[in-house]
Amino acid sequence: MPEGDTLFRTAAGLRPHLLGRTVVAAHARQPGPRADLLVGRTVTDVLAIGKNLVIRFDTGLELRTHLGMRGSWHRYRPGEAWRRPPARARISLEVPGAVAVCFDAPTAEILETRAEALHPPLGGLGPDLLGATFDADEALRRLRAPERAGGSIATALLDQRAVAGVGNVYCDESLFLEHVDPFASVAELPDATLRRLVDRARTLLDANRGTVRRTTTPDPMAATGRRLWVYGRAGRPCRRCGAILLARRHGDLPRRRTWCPRCQAPGAWSVAPEPARR
Ligand SMILES: [Zn+2]
Repeated sequence: MPEGDTLFRTAAGLRPHLLGRTVVAAHARQPGPRADLLVGRTVTDVLAIGKNLVIRFDTGLELRTHLGMRGSWHRYRPGEAWRRPPARARISLEVPGAVAVCFDAPTAEILETRAEALHPPLGGLGPDLLGATFDADEALRRLRAPERAGGSIATALLDQRAVAGVGNVYCDESLFLEHVDPFASVAELPDATLRRLVDRARTLLDANRGTVRRTTTPDPMAATGRRLWVYGRAGRPCRRCGAILLARRHGDLPRRRTWCPRCQAPGAWSVAPEPARR
């Protein structure tokens, strides 16, 4: 699943090619949005909002795509062959000098920007970890909301309505770095721990916003290819303590968590973690 930093990079990559340009052609697979509504409109913004890629137009309309597990945006020159079959294109926009194509996204829709606050996938999103004005207090309040408090901290961190931007990689890595057992309930964790987790996720996302190779380890490790602490490393030794990392599926989707049973033993968060290094 794309993480917040992926969406951020996608928006940053499309922005210079779309901003201020007028759509000369647009096509959407049907059933789907009415792409013709966008022809003749000028792009005023390209934004990553949580895991949504939003393109705004001068007439108050916006195109929202949610990339789900396999979706992605590509940019081509007009006439250039696409790297995925056209049948998988959900929507494409052509502006002078560029064609932007969204492939395999489960969601593509056109709505009015002013309706965004009322729109559940966008209006219901928690504070955006990569947003310029991230509200940590609001993130904490949402993590502690009754519908999440009894569930696991891993599930709460991945819930985009609590905080927007955390996917599987940053979930596993943040929990490891803060010594938190992924299956601890939100209710049993103190505010200070929740705050550290959110800060950590934000720092990791921010540090990776300009890069393709995600890195959560400090330099001497990262330089030798050991870029992640636990994500994707189940069955291998913990880079900190040597214990064998465990993995377990959870949730409805389902998702898979990887963690160190020693560094993230129940209650380990109460021991002051080492200072943040990244
Ligand atoms: Zn360990």
